[in-house]
Amino acid sequence: MLSAADLPTPIRKFLLDSGLETEAPFERRIFTNRDLNFDSISIIGFDMDYTLAIYRQEEIEAKSLTTTTDKLIGRGYPEALREMPMDPRFAIRGLTVDRQLGNVIKMDRHGYVGRAYHGLRKLERPERKAIYRDQRLGKERERFAPVDTLFALPEVTLFAGVVELIDRAPESFRAGAGAPSYAEAWLDVRECIDLAHRDGSIKDHVRDDPGRFIEKDPDLARTLHQLRSAGKKLFVLTNSLFDYTEVVMRYLLDDALESYPDWTAYFDWVVVGAAKPGFFTENAPFQELDRTGAPIGGRKQQVQRGKIYTGGNQLGLQESLGGYADEVLYVGDHIYGDIVRSKKSSGWRTALIVQELQHELEVRHDWEMTLREIGSLHGLRSRLAEEIGAHRYLARMLARLEPQELVGTGVTLVEAARVLEATRTDLRKRLEWLRNYEQETRDTLERRSKEVDGAFNPYWGSSFAERHDTSRFGAQVESFACIYTSRVSNFLFASPAKYFISPHGLLPHWAPSAG
Ligand code: IMP
Ligand code: MG
Repeated sequence: MLSAADLPTPIRKFLLDSGLETEAPFERRIFTNRDLNFDSISIIGFDMDYTLAIYRQEEIEAKSLTTTTDKLIGRGYPEALREMPMDPRFAIRGLTVDRQLGNVIKMDRHGYVGRAYHGLRKLERPERKAIYRDQRLGKERERFAPVDTLFALPEVTLFAGVVELIDRAPESFRAGAGAPSYAEAWLDVRECIDLAHRDGSIKDHVRDDPGRFIEKDPDLARTLHQLRSAGKKLFVLTNSLFDYTEVVMRYLLDDALESYPDWTAYFDWVVVGAAKPGFFTENAPFQELDRTGAPIGGRKQQVQRGKIYTGGNQLGLQESLGGYADEVLYVGDHIYGDIVRSKKSSGWRTALIVQELQHELEVRHDWEMTLREIGSLHGLRSRLAEEIGAHRYLARMLARLEPQELVGTGVTLVEAARVLEATRTDLRKRLEWLRNYEQETRDTLERRSKEVDGAFNPYWGSSFAERHDTSRFGAQVESFACIYTSRVSNFLFASPAKYFISPHGLLPHWAPSAG
């Protein structure tokens, strides 16, 4: 397929310089799981938090941790919680909390638990396997809590700290009344964070100083403008309530481009307080709001352009938008609330914003050679394991073979004994050599993997991979997001008529070298 990169250099340079064609830097590329003809997308909807608004994770997380810690201490948790080491790198998206055992785990796409921590202590392989050998997530919803939004990271970090404290000093909880169970502690953490989101403990700080918590993407306004200029209609669909939405969106977009009097001018429809994922499955009415956020008029099942609504439901919105559901692209960051639900329930096409992808791509770029080496070492190890298996099988057969049985092939008994012994010795030597080779490969593989994992994240490695497979999170991204990228403004580099083409999955037996 022809792309700008295939054109002769002077033409390419002219197109790039004049802004007619743009080439995305590698960390800002858009990736495709399912073909998407951007030309046939006429409406694009955006989630706000962690989608249009990129949070400064360290700042927002630090604020969530301190406000939630205050609330937990108010519930009788020990003051020592403030002193617990809380490394923000400890939590990444895609992890799962085992509430019952107080563990945080990372699974591969088959539900196999590849890494686990109890509090801040890593569970070594035997312990981990003893606990999770048969575990497959999904069967015990009550026990396992998925971490599928960046808002949820502080609760994981905090939970790990609480688990440490429960183990170290159970008597320090609730004025000596005893420590909660891990599952109760999880609920406490969850409730306190939930409250911190709702009672203003976090949002008041963002409101006072949005620039401290939210990154102002200099390309965002231009990107939205480019989409509008290409004839696409835009909407906002956020769970945040009006007053907070107003603060964040003003910060992001007001005064960005002269032709837009304020942030609402970028969007044809605005829906706040949407209560996703329920928005996609239930039938709540819309309530119109004025520019101060006060309700006007009665409740409605549809929305009009240029007005602001709170609540509502997807069917009503779709009818108001007009056209077909598959002409709508919804861009969100929440794998379940935005992406899974909207894709399953509404038929909207989906784009997932994965802020972490930028770091992921930078590490992949910097460690490209090592990652290649790991790939080939992995291939080598599999080949060696196969060979060892074949040799062991042969050695077992030869061990049972008596020289007399060879006499029928035309050799003497003495000769048969000699050949048999020589073959067994050869086989033993070769097996030993293979085993050493495999061990060396395994050691190098482990060393190299550790180095790269450390660059991704010292506790968990890459969010998208687990061992040599896709992580559960990676698999969800693959199954549910039609396209994914690190930030909304990466659409600046995609022509409005771009055809996003997926690499199309191969089953193992489809590969040319299968067998
Ligand atoms: P959206 O991503 O724009 O739909 O907005 C997400 C909203 O959910 C933000 O206002 C967050 O503050 C809020 N939020 C995130 N986690 C929680 C929670 O645990 N409890 C209540 N609100 C939350
Ligand atoms: Mg969001």
